[in-house]
Amino acid sequence: MQLKKHVPIRMCVACRKRFPQHSLLRLKETKQRTIAPYDGVGRSLYLCEACAKTPKKRRILTKRYRCDEECLSKLLKEFF
Ligand SMILES: [Zn+2]
Repeated sequence: MQLKKHVPIRMCVACRKRFPQHSLLRLKETKQRTIAPYDGVGRSLYLCEACAKTPKKRRILTKRYRCDEECLSKLLKEFF
């Protein structure tokens, strides 16, 4: 009998490493190219906890999306 459940693997957008989906922060990219908490619609993106806490990695996100450090901190505060 197969007891091992299939674990979905997703990639962190900042470090591009792969992790089990449940260990990542799930966010979404909005039409305005900002980031928001994932709400079931749109394109989701994932961020690992280590990157969320690393300023250098956070900068990758603030550069790629129209979301500055202030917007990102506010967003990530909801997860920790
Ligand atoms: Zn990462």
